[in-house]
Amino acid sequence: MMLVLKNVSRQFNNVKVLKDLNVEFKSGLNFIVGPSGSGKSTLLKIISGMDKGYEGQVFYRGNSLKEFSEKELNDYYYNTVGFIWQDFQLINHLSVEDNVKVVLELSDLSNEEKNKKVTAILKRLAIDGLAKKNVAQLSGGQKQRVAIARALVKDPEIIIADEPTGALDKKSSALIMNALKRIAKERLVIVVTHDKSLIDNESNCFTLNGGKIVQTASGASGKVVATKNKLVNPKLSFGSAFSLGGKNFKGLFMKFGMSALILMLSSYFLLLNISGTVVNEQENILNELVEAKGNSLRDINIFSSVMGAGGTDGNDTNKPNLDIEQDVSEVLKKYQDDPRVEFFAPMDVVNNMTVNIDGLVKDYKVENSNNAPIINEIIEGRVPKSDGREVAVPKLFVEKAGLKPSDVIGKTINIEGMAYDWSSGQPQEVKVKLDNLTIVGVIDTKASYSDPNYGKMEFEFEDSFIYGLDSAKELRVQKNASQENVSFMMRVKDIKDIMPIVDELNKVGITPMGQFESVSDILRINDTTKEQSGAITVIISAIAVVVTIAVVLINAILRKREFAILKINGYSKGSIFNLNVVENLLIAIASIVIFVAASPVINSLSNKIFSMSVSGGKSMITGVAIILVQGIVMGIISALITSGIKIENNIMTGDR
Ligand code: ADP
Ligand code: MG
Repeated sequence: MMLVLKNVSRQFNNVKVLKDLNVEFKSGLNFIVGPSGSGKSTLLKIISGMDKGYEGQVFYRGNSLKEFSEKELNDYYYNTVGFIWQDFQLINHLSVEDNVKVVLELSDLSNEEKNKKVTAILKRLAIDGLAKKNVAQLSGGQKQRVAIARALVKDPEIIIADEPTGALDKKSSALIMNALKRIAKERLVIVVTHDKSLIDNESNCFTLNGGKIVQTASGASGKVVATKNKLVNPKLSFGSAFSLGGKNFKGLFMKFGMSALILMLSSYFLLLNISGTVVNEQENILNELVEAKGNSLRDINIFSSVMGAGGTDGNDTNKPNLDIEQDVSEVLKKYQDDPRVEFFAPMDVVNNMTVNIDGLVKDYKVENSNNAPIINEIIEGRVPKSDGREVAVPKLFVEKAGLKPSDVIGKTINIEGMAYDWSSGQPQEVKVKLDNLTIVGVIDTKASYSDPNYGKMEFEFEDSFIYGLDSAKELRVQKNASQENVSFMMRVKDIKDIMPIVDELNKVGITPMGQFESVSDILRINDTTKEQSGAITVIISAIAVVVTIAVVLINAILRKREFAILKINGYSKGSIFNLNVVENLLIAIASIVIFVAASPVINSLSNKIFSMSVSGGKSMITGVAIILVQGIVMGIISALITSGIKIENNIMTGDR
């Protein structure tokens, strides 16, 4: 006996639907008839192993279905039973041949052998002409023949059909019944129907009513069918998973494509958060703010004596007054070689200069500004070194002398002029002279400041000569000033280092001068924009990740029926798990392609919206890695959901 039911009872919510059934199914065609709600589908679910909540036993070739392990049940689905439903249960996004082939993917046949088998079975059911068609385009009768082909291609011993003609017209019904009759010649076929006209005298018939079953006809041959000699261990190989995953990608292109796009976007935002280039973008904002203020923003001036404007204490209006004195000799030594300092320059000047440059300039009188030296930027060459007798000259001076920077660099210059001798406590004008200095650079000496009445005012100084420390000391000897306590300015490389240096100076009692309020303001603005855009990308990344997971969940739930169909055809949890991981790997690959192709567009958009972007090969690699990791996580989430689904909850049976 192939299939025996012993004392099978089934109740739902204390209502007994099946009452102590004892049935033996012999090979051949077996009908089960009975009114709607009499428990026909319930009985089929028990026979098929989907439902284990019954009392009694069901034996397949002497083995109790209840005792089947998960693996044995999978084998049972692949090797022993084929199912046919009223509503076909085909995979709508696959072609006719792929709906049949999907079952064979679990076998170890070669692709060629699979195709051969599929073609043969389609021919047997006279639908080989429809092989490439999408199943959604078929008529009901054609769909049911595809379903029969899918059940038969496994070559099962038992075919279970629940109302297979329920959705078909008379002509199609007859065709399907003929096919089932032919099949029943070599297998056990159980057909549930309430159309008694289908029953002929070559069939067995069981009537289910009031929970009891009665055999009402016995015409089936009952000849014993040989056990299948070659049992297949149903397993989805890696290659088959890719093949099926690729077909699903094609068939569900919108779903997979959207997933790939969303995966790419969420990975991009994660990349924005993780990648250091975000910080570089912030750095650019900072640089822009600093640039708008001018380079002198980064200057710290340290005066050994701070002077008020000329005439403020009632003296001669041309002579300045001494306001503060401080000893800066120690900090001079300290900051001269500080790595945070871009360059360093003594503040000594010569007034009312007359200069000579060998062969180029003769007795040229430089316009006097009475201003401390200013360096906007170095145009050519460099600032003077501390040792050696060097000088850098203003661009304005070079231009007025009718020369180009390259003409003067490397030349020797002689300077004569006046300076103040403060040794008596009162400024005393003395003649000073610096012979044979080497010009090492040309500097732009533009200075600007905002005037409340006139707006932004710009000046350029012709006498803003910058001396090396040695030359400055030579000058200081001539005006009786200290060789150590030299006023100087330093330009700090990074604006962020300014306030710490100011603090260090204050600690040792030195009052530096500079635009420290602007520096603090800019740093504050920078910090808040950094925080804001940082917070925005964190929020958007979080949303993106949540949306990605939501898409995975929705797709998995929308495809539950599809995976239930695979399960009832022998796909194990593991096979469905692998299929999901492979599918999401394909999505990740598509996502990477989109990422690489679209990154310039996305970057420029992101730059406009968040003033952030990513660039460089390293970021691209990080991006690809993020997509892959997220894709695998998506695959695992999807796999966990779909591999655990229950067949009986996702495939409706019969006319319920
Ligand atoms: P049919 O003979 O029409 O196929 P079914 O076997 O589908 O009948 O259902 C038989 C009875 O059992 C019906 O009253 C149905 O409501 C009930 N039933 C079937 N499955 C369940 C279930 N999973 N939970 C509760 N009641 C069920
Ligand atoms: Mg039913």
